[in-house]
Amino acid sequence: MTSWKTIPADLWDVAVVGGGPAGMTAAMAAARAGAAVVLLERGERPGKKLLMTGNGKCNLGNRDLKPSYYYSDNMAMAASVLERFGTEETMAFFASLGLLVRERRGGLYPASEQAAVVLDALRYGLAREGVTILPQAMVRGLSVADKPASGYLVELEDGRRIRARRVVLACGGQAAPRTGSDGSGYELARSLGHRVISPVPALVQLHCGEKYCKALAGVRAEGVVRLYGVSRPGTGRGGGPWARPAGPGLFRSGCRPRRSTPPGRDCRPAE
Ligand SMILES: Cc1cc2nc3c(=O)[nH]c(=O)nc-3n(C[C@H](O)[C@H](O)[C@H](O)COP(=O)(O)OP(=O)(O)OC[C@H]3O[C@@H](n4cnc5c(N)ncnc54)[C@H](O)[C@@H]3O)c2cc1C
Repeated sequence: MTSWKTIPADLWDVAVVGGGPAGMTAAMAAARAGAAVVLLERGERPGKKLLMTGNGKCNLGNRDLKPSYYYSDNMAMAASVLERFGTEETMAFFASLGLLVRERRGGLYPASEQAAVVLDALRYGLAREGVTILPQAMVRGLSVADKPASGYLVELEDGRRIRARRVVLACGGQAAPRTGSDGSGYELARSLGHRVISPVPALVQLHCGEKYCKALAGVRAEGVVRLYGVSRPGTGRGGGPWARPAGPGLFRSGCRPRRSTPPGRDCRPAE
């Protein structure tokens, strides 16, 4: 584990806040471009949420990638990002880390089907590129240093301070806050004058009030889920405890309702 003593007191080229997949990838890209990079992660180690992904198997990409699958007021930006870094670039990036990837029904997974292997590949990649990882580094404040050439002052919860020419904010959203992403990144962005668009749920589970649903716990079936008040049904496998329905179809449907329109829902078998 990197200790504070190994962190030089002078100016870093880049400080990346947040050690999720976004932060690790950004840190690696900056280091590959020749920057001296420090990665600041509030947890014991980077990538805690990544270990939960794809039910522990990490669905790391998909052949079928289109801007229309994203929710944004700025679809041109979504298109431009995917144009520059689509499925082929994702495959090439993981290949550069030595990760074997296999395809299942268009989805990309590590050949080992273990999210932990993806995390290991990213961590080895960071080490190879010389990125310094500082764990237990909760960033509380960000400000522009007095002299513009001095970049940013990054303040940690425990009082330590770091200076960096550039800062990448990669603190995640608010999903699964026990993994570290509790929305503190939004505050850091606001403190620098950025406008933050209110987040809405993405892939979420739905909760049923009816007690009889408990009897269906563990039943898996291909089906259609319709949420009242929204136009497109979600389809796919639904399973797990039906008092807390789960599965891709339900997750996909869950992202559609807005806060102001609590949905009804209807589950039926696929035709
Ligand atoms: C159960 C589950 C399953 C999923 N399955 C998949 C899947 O199969 N495929 C897929 O593509 N996506 C999946 N996702 C979504 C995926 O995990 C996220 O999109 C991804 O982790 C986002 O990466 P990130 O780096 O932006 O944020 P995060 O992974 O949330 O990482 C943010 C990091 O920043 C750190 N941090 C936050 N605030 C601070 C601070 N102030 N100072 C220092 N550090 C801070 C956090 O501790 C955390 O480590 C899943 C998500 C969940 C919850």
